Amino acid sequence: MSTFRFNAVEKASNRKAIEAVIPKQKVSEYFGENVFNRKAMKKYLSKETFEILTQAIDTGTRLGRGIANHIAAGMKMWALEKGVTHYTHWFQPLTDGTAEKHDAFVEFDGNGGIIEEFSGKLLVQQEPDASSFPSGGLRNTFEARGYSAWDPSSPAFIVDDTLCIPTVFIAYTGEALDYKTPLIRSIEVLSEAAKEVCDYFSENVNKITCFLGWEQEYFLVDEDLYSARPDLSLTERTLLGHESAKNQQLDDHYFGAIPSRVQEFMKDLETECYRLGIPVKTRHNEVAPNQFELAPIFEECNLANDHNQLLMSVMKRVSRRHNFRVLLHEKPFMGVNGSGKHCNWSMGTDTGVNLFSPGKDSEDNLRFITFVVNTLMAVHRFNPLLKASIASASNAYRLGANEAPPAIISSFLGKEISEVLDRFENSSIEDAVKVDDKKRLALGFGQIPELLLDNTDRNRTSPFAFTGNRFEFRALGSSANCGSAMLALNSAVAYQLRQFKKDVEKLRLEGKSKEVAIFEILKAYIKESKPIRFDGNGYSDDWREEAERRGLDCENSVPLQYDAYLTPQVVEMFKETNVLNIKELKARNEVKWEIYIKKVQIEARVLGDLSLNHIIPVVIQYQSLLLDTIAKLKDTFEGEEYEDLSAEPRRLTRKIAQHICAVTRMVDEMIEARKKANRIADLRSKAIAYHDTVAPYLDEIRCHIDNLELMVDNQMWPLPKYRELLFIR
Ligand code: ADP
Ligand code: MG
Repeated sequence: MSTFRFNAVEKASNRKAIEAVIPKQKVSEYFGENVFNRKAMKKYLSKETFEILTQAIDTGTRLGRGIANHIAAGMKMWALEKGVTHYTHWFQPLTDGTAEKHDAFVEFDGNGGIIEEFSGKLLVQQEPDASSFPSGGLRNTFEARGYSAWDPSSPAFIVDDTLCIPTVFIAYTGEALDYKTPLIRSIEVLSEAAKEVCDYFSENVNKITCFLGWEQEYFLVDEDLYSARPDLSLTERTLLGHESAKNQQLDDHYFGAIPSRVQEFMKDLETECYRLGIPVKTRHNEVAPNQFELAPIFEECNLANDHNQLLMSVMKRVSRRHNFRVLLHEKPFMGVNGSGKHCNWSMGTDTGVNLFSPGKDSEDNLRFITFVVNTLMAVHRFNPLLKASIASASNAYRLGANEAPPAIISSFLGKEISEVLDRFENSSIEDAVKVDDKKRLALGFGQIPELLLDNTDRNRTSPFAFTGNRFEFRALGSSANCGSAMLALNSAVAYQLRQFKKDVEKLRLEGKSKEVAIFEILKAYIKESKPIRFDGNGYSDDWREEAERRGLDCENSVPLQYDAYLTPQVVEMFKETNVLNIKELKARNEVKWEIYIKKVQIEARVLGDLSLNHIIPVVIQYQSLLLDTIAKLKDTFEGEEYEDLSAEPRRLTRKIAQHICAVTRMVDEMIEARKKANRIADLRSKAIAYHDTVAPYLDEIRCHIDNLELMVDNQMWPLPKYRELLFIR
């Protein structure tokens, strides 16, 4: 048995050590113990400071420098008691994942000793040497100043020996260099716009909160097998590997019990999450072998996104303790499902109403329809933008590539809601609007059925589905920062809600009643947004053609999908909502194109190396064994008998030789294509060149090598195969 196979079996999970980590207490007793939450604040801050801080968190008021000193002192005391020695500003640059630079609390005390120091200044703002984070040219390296600034709405937390302070990351000149900044801006503008529209229906709403409940899919692979695959180690996906005879065709993984080794990992992970205040709730096997999912209770959008970012790094860390590697890549394995990150999105009022829940009376129902229809309008008007917001080199292997689902953003509403909208659209104003004696609006077509509340009519293929009391944006990739999609969705819906208000007010100025104005505008919106409503099978071929006929965005090339950020309509929308200005949009696109280029470039390099230095040498060895055999057959047999007996080895040798030629030729061509693309200065054109002329080789080369995998002696094959990678022992 080769070493990697042997090690994988030998090193089962490190059970003893892990059991010690899992506490015996109830979750409620240790939930959030590593978070500077309200309980900790109350204990470590003065009453006055506590009140000012919680007020700022709840209402978004600014905190002065003086108060920051008090907060920092309390935070430090709390952290020191927990054995913390370092602190860091924790931010979300435009690359994958989060960034942190740790500093120790230590300072000289002036008497030759050391004290632990942490001031309000250090809490509030820092200037990390951020010259190597992508900025799309917003920051020249010679003035590599980027600031990280404290986000009090997301509580500080402790990881290992470090106090982590969630921060935004902005350029010296104020432009956003991260996901958090525009996400917060988009949440604020959505909240305001939704409140204004809510005022049509209810007078006592003061604040609207945007909620996000993500579902994180991931794969686990054995650490030793992972290490034996340079492609997994360097690109997080297998660039080679023939499908296993058994993969997901029996659907046995989805319904199956969680393997005990994985269950140990999950328990350990959940414990860490609870300590960090991440309210994880659901865990289960996913469709593909070795694929799993984790989902929390939904939270306020900015906090939920921080928790998702944090979860991803915790997962990576905890998996190592169990001799696993977690793969967050969207398509680690060909031929089985990829991983997404569903974002369940909704809005709620401070009076406890979910704006996407149909209510008890017809006024509530009209409010419900208003928010659903405006969301549909936003998804319709900003269809290419929403797709761009989830587009990445890695997510493209999941969407719109050879395997379903396609890269088209449509919306599934379910039978009940579709019928309600159809009836709304077709009813006359006299039928629909009857103002009762309380001067409230009555919808002539009756209530939305109660049934809706437990809407089980789910369409799993829809990228933007209504699921009873929320929308579920399912097109996101598993490795993505939800912020990218959420900020686009929030801004688009905010913009649309403002437009709705303008449209309604215009009709009112013409003398129409509020109810009639709302009714007429919604009717027009329902008509206009129809092209994105699709309740059929989103994975079918017919849908693609139909979507094109409907004028939906069907672009498959990621570099071109990013153009959607710079169309006049989108630039105007982001400007109007104050979420991103043109300078930021341009810079962010530069970053996106650059990341795309680098991802494809790395994959091409790794595949070239694997082909020429790992696979082909072994294939040639096997080929020479075959040639030896043929020569020996010739020595032993003669004439027709020789022809007969050597036919198979000769046929195999010929086939192998053809594959070797094809692979080496294409690796050379791929290198040439890269060289040519590298000479292009403009990042957009370069990304297009990488997409059009380099990336196609990845699939083609793979195809030949995967064929070789089936011909060459199993003992000689230098990489773990799919059947090993995909089935945990
Ligand atoms: P399913 O896979 O059937 O869609 P899950 O239980 O896996 O359901 O995930 C549902 C996700 O939706 C959870 O993260 C949950 O917290 C979230 N969620 C539920 N209600 C809302 C809501 N009103 N707003 C936002 N997210 C929600
Ligand atoms: Mg779901």
